[in-house]
Formats: sequence, C-alpha cells, structure tokens
Amino acid sequence: MELGMIRRIIMATGNSGKLREISDLFADMPCQLISMRDWRKPLPSIEENGSTFFENACIKADWVFRESSEWSLADDSGLMVDALGGGPGVTSARFAGEQGNAEANNAKLLKALEGVAQRLRTARFACSVVLRIDEATLLHADGYCEGRIIERPRGSGGFGYDPLFVPDGFNRTFAELTGEEKHRISHRGKALKALKEQIYDYFA
Ligand code: IMP
Repeated sequence: MELGMIRRIIMATGNSGKLREISDLFADMPCQLISMRDWRKPLPSIEENGSTFFENACIKADWVFRESSEWSLADDSGLMVDALGGGPGVTSARFAGEQGNAEANNAKLLKALEGVAQRLRTARFACSVVLRIDEATLLHADGYCEGRIIERPRGSGGFGYDPLFVPDGFNRTFAELTGEEKHRISHRGKALKALKEQIYDYFA
C-alpha cells in the first residue's frame, strides 16, 4: 500500500475544538479527513471507560473502524493538575458532571485550586492519538505540554481549559495564542507530529 494516493480517514470525535485542530495539523497530509458529523453515522456516546488516554483513544478508533472498515483516527486528551493528584485526567471532559461543559469544568477547577499558591499550580496537558489502519495495524503517539493553571480565565481562542492554562515559556494562556502558536507546542500538536512521522515510516 502506498501513501501517494489520497486516503480517507474518519475522525472519531464529535468535539468541534478538537476537530478543528486535528484538521489544521493534518492539512499537509495526503488525506481527506471526514468528521463523524459528515459520516453516515454519528458517534454514539461510547463509554470511555479506559484508565489511560491511550485505552480511551483505542476504544473510540476501534468502534469507528468496526463500523466503517476505514482508517480511523482518535485522540483522547486531558489536563493533569499536580495539586489534584494528576486529575481530572481521563475524566477532564466531564469533570463537573456534564460531558463537555467547558464553563462548568473551568469553574470547578478554579474552585478546587482556591488558595493553592502559584508555584504549586503546575499542570500538563496530555494527548494520546491512535490511527487504526487495519485489524493488525495500529499506529500510536503521545504528546505532553507543561504549564500552570492561573487564577482567572483569559482569552477567547481554543476550547476547554485553554483560558486557564499558561504553557511554560509563555505569559499568555492557550486561549490567547494563535492557532499556529498553540499547535507548535501543544500536546495534540506534538502527538500528531509524531503520528505523521510514523505514517510516513509505515509506508516508506
Ligand atoms: P476527550 O478526549 O474527548 O475525552 O476530552 C478531552 C477533554 O480534555 C476536553 O473536553 C477538554 O476538557 C480537555 N482538553 C483536551 N485537550 C485540550 C486542549 O487542547 N485545550 C483545552 N482543553 C483540552
């Protein structure tokens, strides 16, 4: 099989922030990314009951692969805050109860860190991305981005916890960076860059 031809890849996510970022990051690949929304079947609320980002990414990609027999790409990601023992981690999307309610999640995070000193507000975003190519072939890469949680949200870009996260080496939150700046340093940007290299190696 050669990579020269344009490949269809179904993205196993309904999160529009992630869809936008993954599409940007794959713009230079000979691939046509199809979002679950434009595919014939919407992604059901699959129970993401894995204990790691990798397991959850596999659960999503494998569901789509079983349904479609097409290449399936999934990422599972989240925020790990040191003062919360690495939480919310794999439950980041539903930290405040309701799946994907960023405002409620951010409010709960600020409350949980009330009174925690600046130097103890260290955190990292983690992303595990998998591409299911066929029954026997799964490519996988991880990416991390270190930073800290500030005390009040800033910025209107990005999604999720972005307004509260200042990456190391910056004074601006993820929500105040341009898309390109975020992609260069983010957990998802790093994981997808590594995955793209694996795709090229696999077909070399
Ligand atoms: P899941 O991977 O769909 O289970 O959800 C990941 C959750 O982690 C998102 O809903 C966000 O709350 C959070 N998250 C993951 N990546 C980012 C990011 O780049 N910025 C902000 N929040 C993120």
